[in-house]
Amino acid sequence: MMASKWIKPVLATALLTIGLAGCNTAESSSESKKAKPAKEESKVVNVYTARHYEADDQVYKNFTEETGIEVNVVKAEAEELIERLKREGESTNADLFITVDGGVLANAKNNDVLQPIESDAINENVPENLRDKENYWVGMSTRARVIVYAKDRVNPEDLSTYEDLTSDKWKGKVLARSSTSLYNQSLLASFIELNGEEKAEEWAEGIVNNFARQPDGGDRDQAKAIAAGTGDVGIMNTYYVGLMANSEDPEEKKVAENIGVFYPNQETNGTHVNVSGIGLTKHSKNKENALKLVEYMTDVEAQEYLSANNYEFPVNPEAQMPELLKSWGEFKMQELDFDTLGEHNAKAIEIFNKTGWK
Ligand code: FE
Repeated sequence: MMASKWIKPVLATALLTIGLAGCNTAESSSESKKAKPAKEESKVVNVYTARHYEADDQVYKNFTEETGIEVNVVKAEAEELIERLKREGESTNADLFITVDGGVLANAKNNDVLQPIESDAINENVPENLRDKENYWVGMSTRARVIVYAKDRVNPEDLSTYEDLTSDKWKGKVLARSSTSLYNQSLLASFIELNGEEKAEEWAEGIVNNFARQPDGGDRDQAKAIAAGTGDVGIMNTYYVGLMANSEDPEEKKVAENIGVFYPNQETNGTHVNVSGIGLTKHSKNKENALKLVEYMTDVEAQEYLSANNYEFPVNPEAQMPELLKSWGEFKMQELDFDTLGEHNAKAIEIFNKTGWK
C-alpha cells in the first residue's frame, strides 16, 4: 500500500545515502531518510487568474487528472490580483498569475511580482512574439478585435480598415462598447503606438461621430444590436462570436448566424490582436508544478481544447483551430510589442474622455 509513495524518493534517498556514507549515522537512519516529503513540492499549484472562462476550469481539471497535481484557483480582477501579490510578497501562496491583455501582463512584470519562466518545452510551445522578451510571461491564447457586420445589409467588400469606420458612409451605423473596457483601451493604445496620438484621436472622434447609439453593454451586445437593426457594423472580439454561435441560448445563436467577421487593416498594419498570458510569481513555492501546468496549457491538447471551447486562437502553431475560426480565414495581425498597450493605456483613456466616447 505504501509502495507507490516510496517510488519517487528512491533516487533522492540513494544520493543522500552516498552523501552520508562517510558518517556513522548513515545505516541507522534509513527509515527517516526515506520519508523526506518535505524536500518535494506538495502535489498542488495555486493560480491567481483574471480570466473568467469555463474552458480554463476544464483544462485545470484535465491537468489534475493527468498529473495528480491539484490546481487551486483564485479569480479576481487583474489589478486586484497584482495588488494582492505585492501585498503578500514572499508569503504568497500563488504560483501562477494569469490574465488577458499584454499591457496588464507587462504591468505585472513592472510591479516585480513575476520571475522569468525557464523551460525549453514551453519556449517550443509558444512562439517568441507571444512571450515577454525576458519570459516574465508566456502567451496562452490570442483574440482579434475585429469588425462585425450585418450579413443582410453590408457587403464585406465595403469594409476595409478601422479608420474607414469613421467615414461618412457609416454615419449612425457604428456600434462599440464603452471606453471603460480594457479591450477598447488596448485597441486605441495600439493605434497610438502604430499611427501616433493625433491619428488615434481622430479615429476615436470619428467613431463617436458615427455611433448608432451611445455605447451600451459588452461585446455580445454590439452583435445583438446589429441583429436588431440598431446599427450595421460593430467592433468586437472574435471569441465572443464563437461563444454566441455555440451558445445554448437560441437567440444568441441566431444573432451569430446573422453577423459576419471581417479582419480589418489587412493591406495596412494588420488586425488588432491581444494576448492572454501566464506569469510565474516571483515567490512561487511550487515552481516545478507551476511550470508543469504552463507546459500543459501551452501544449497541443490543451491549446486545441481552449480554442474549440473558448474560440480563442491557439498560441501553439501545432494546435488545430475549430472549423468556425478556420472559416474566417487567415489574417495578418498587428506587429507590436504588447508592452506598449500598457504604456499607452493612460493616454488612450484620456483620448476617449476628450472625444466623448463614454
Ligand atoms: Fe472577455
